[in-house]
Amino acid sequence: MREEIKPEVQAFVKAHGRPPGLGIVLVGADPASQVYVRNKLKAAEEVGFYADCERMSPDATLDDVLSPLPKAMGRGASQRVFDAIAVGKDVDGFAAESIGLLVQNRPQLVACTPAGVIEMLEREQITIAGTRAVVLGRSDIVGKPMAMLLLHRDATVTICHSRTLDLAATCRQADILVAAVGRPGFVTPEFVKPGATVVDVGINEVTDAAVAASLFADGHPRLASFAAKGSLLVGDVHPSVDQVAGALTPVPRGVGPLTITMLMKNTLKAAQARVS
Ligand code: NAP
Repeated sequence: MREEIKPEVQAFVKAHGRPPGLGIVLVGADPASQVYVRNKLKAAEEVGFYADCERMSPDATLDDVLSPLPKAMGRGASQRVFDAIAVGKDVDGFAAESIGLLVQNRPQLVACTPAGVIEMLEREQITIAGTRAVVLGRSDIVGKPMAMLLLHRDATVTICHSRTLDLAATCRQADILVAAVGRPGFVTPEFVKPGATVVDVGINEVTDAAVAASLFADGHPRLASFAAKGSLLVGDVHPSVDQVAGALTPVPRGVGPLTITMLMKNTLKAAQARVS
């Protein structure tokens, strides 16, 4: 999909004498955030953007931001920061105005992970209209916008969270199940209707050998990788779901790289809208 963006970037450069620009502000020193930023800068360079990342201490004044912010910034800091970003530059789609426009089904810049999930479902020609969709997780950045996007494509949507009763039975009703919980291998086969499409948004680092062993059978190459590196990146969906689901996105790969591609698409769209 990134290949499709390149000609549009070249056309933008030809018309405006400069590439679209992606500005990232990294606050604090969270190792996972540093990896995300590195991958985003690499992708931006690959498609031909001007991209830069500024490092700031947690008490600095901000114009743009990578979430999550350090806990030291206090409750609600992310929301205040996102709301300070002009809606036309909100390429993460996290600001209140962007979310309000999405709720009203007149989206401008949509949160990249849920937008990427929709793009993937549509490209794979998975029917959304008329299906039952369950979104497991209600975060502002994944669960809620995911539910809105599915709703606007005429799915009947249920959002589940930590207080949902009969969680597995509720999830089992889904034709499309999107897992965004942040818990390694949480979604087991009993959560999944046979043949359902399961989208695994989770990206979890496992460093506990017992957890790794609960996910992969003896002799699995990923256990060998765990033994060598001392950690593994896994999703929210247990690998055994593969036996029940009609389709299952992998982790790593899968939704993660799609999110970055959607960020590139949003950046190009924002740049095009600002010059038009
Ligand atoms: P989050 O803000 O921590 O939200 C997690 C959600 O899961 C919450 O709504 C929480 O419910 C629910 N939950 C937690 N434990 C549960 C349980 N035992 N039963 C039912 N629901 C439970 O996480 P997030 O930011 O949405 O991210 C979720 C996952 O996606 C993480 O692994 C994250 O790393 C990954 N992620 C991946 C990408 C990507 O590019 N692929 C992008 C963003 C996030 P409550 O609201 O009741 O607490």
